[in-house]
Amino acid sequence: MKTMLTDAHCHPFDLYSCFPQAEDERESLRVIAAASACGLDEFAYNEELAKKSATKNLAPLLSCFAVHPQLPAVKTLDGEPLTNDEINNYLETLNNLAAAGRLAAIGECGFDLFNVSFKETEAVQDRIFIAHLETALRHDLPVILHVRRAIHKIFANKKILSKCRAVVFHSWPGTFDEGMSILRHRVNAFFSFGNTIRNGHKQAMLCCSKFPAERLLTETDAPFQPLRGQNFSGWTDLPHIIEKASSLRNVPANELETQIENNFKNIFNSFQSAIPVSI
Ligand SMILES: [Zn+2]
Repeated sequence: MKTMLTDAHCHPFDLYSCFPQAEDERESLRVIAAASACGLDEFAYNEELAKKSATKNLAPLLSCFAVHPQLPAVKTLDGEPLTNDEINNYLETLNNLAAAGRLAAIGECGFDLFNVSFKETEAVQDRIFIAHLETALRHDLPVILHVRRAIHKIFANKKILSKCRAVVFHSWPGTFDEGMSILRHRVNAFFSFGNTIRNGHKQAMLCCSKFPAERLLTETDAPFQPLRGQNFSGWTDLPHIIEKASSLRNVPANELETQIENNFKNIFNSFQSAIPVSI
């Protein structure tokens, strides 16, 4: 059977707003995609796409949900950060969706300590992160992580992470040694790469060239990680990302594509269609 392209991390709801034909493109390229959502509108949109793909036997779209680690620092419509009650509501929704079998993974969650305002919410991010991992463990779901200026937080949480069925590092932000150390701590880690390797990001290129092949994934983070000079990333980037990764590793592109498809399918072993339950 022909290999399929796989996208370990994307945002179809946001991609739609800059490129309305995106879903047609995904269908024609036959991209299996793990779609992240941090809002209920976004989740509902992704779930509709997932149902349509399942009914029409198209490339599966996998629905994921999590509280994005930037969210506690972002001012909501009333000009205030999320209250504790609002965060608890999100976490309850996450647990309900997981319990109802409506999630393929929990993501993207993690840590963002990129600037002062994000750093101010570190304690809240800690609480949300642990709650996500507990839900992941309770329902045996993989997690997709966003980690910015926060690799130390991964090492601080290595024990609980090692219990997760799979931990996907979206747009792997660390060094090669950090990645290998995470694996040595028995975390079932996967390292995902997107357009950063085409944009000449040296550390990402080195990691992509040296990590064990069975630990690699590809992603678009669409629409948020464009090739330099483009306005947004999308699914047509994937064959070029595979091409770039295979040249970095000096292996044939089709061989790498098959390996990455197998890695992806081992993580997301359930491609079940969503069960319609009200949120
Ligand atoms: Zn993202």
